[in-house]
Amino acid sequence: MVYLCAICNIRSGACREDCKFCTQSVKWGADINRYKEKSIEMIVNEAKLAKKNKAVGFCLVTSGKGLDDKTLEYVCKSAKAVLKEVDINIIACNGTASKDQLKELKKAGVSIYNHNLETSKEYYPKICSTHKWEERFETCENIKSVGLRLCSGGIFGMGESEEDRISLLNSLKKLNPDGIPINFFIGNERLPLKATHNKEMAIGIIKMFRENFPNSIIMIAGGREVVFGDKWIEGIKAGANSIVIGDYLTTKGERPDKDILILQKEGLELANEC
Ligand code: SF4
Repeated sequence: MVYLCAICNIRSGACREDCKFCTQSVKWGADINRYKEKSIEMIVNEAKLAKKNKAVGFCLVTSGKGLDDKTLEYVCKSAKAVLKEVDINIIACNGTASKDQLKELKKAGVSIYNHNLETSKEYYPKICSTHKWEERFETCENIKSVGLRLCSGGIFGMGESEEDRISLLNSLKKLNPDGIPINFFIGNERLPLKATHNKEMAIGIIKMFRENFPNSIIMIAGGREVVFGDKWIEGIKAGANSIVIGDYLTTKGERPDKDILILQKEGLELANEC
């Protein structure tokens, strides 16, 4: 059974944090499409398309370190508008969040919150200086404590060591997420990091997570095409059971019908719900 998920970048760019892997940080000046807010109509239409493309989850992403009152209101409004017209799980991904803010999202119909630990506690200061890994961990604890489902994973191929990957895995074990996105770093000429991944490494990471999280949804998220090319089905065979369909936050993805055909050719069933 494979779970498909679509992401919708409802606010892009203009982030003042300095995460070295992220083109949305203004610090790096990457040439991406930056906008303050997508219209509600556009968000609902994207959700309809995601549903048509067999996605069971639709993720509302905002750039920025975390939720503030205005962002919270916008995400709640978007979630309610989508749920009025589309039968789909709403995932919110809006950075660090307090328990009260997460409760508001839950009230608006959000069922899952995505907040990646990104990398190990030890390596995090090397990729971000404007906020702490511990804040990320705390948000993940908040998510669980208010009864939202937790989706938390990381980005690989940012120069981290094998020990860092194991450290991240052990931290995630303390949280036991329902879903674990495995992203592979997508390079950009303006970013200070160079990608250090390859296909064998990616397969090893997926296997390691599957062995340690037998009951979680393991998702191959951003960077699938960069690492695997058109052989990404090898990642599914290694133990992943979910992919992101369509475009990523700031980069183009594959055509969903092409991805679905590849899964169906392997005799894999698509999940109707998650
Ligand atoms: S806080 Fe989020 S949006 Fe901002 S630079 Fe870091 S990853 Fe990118």
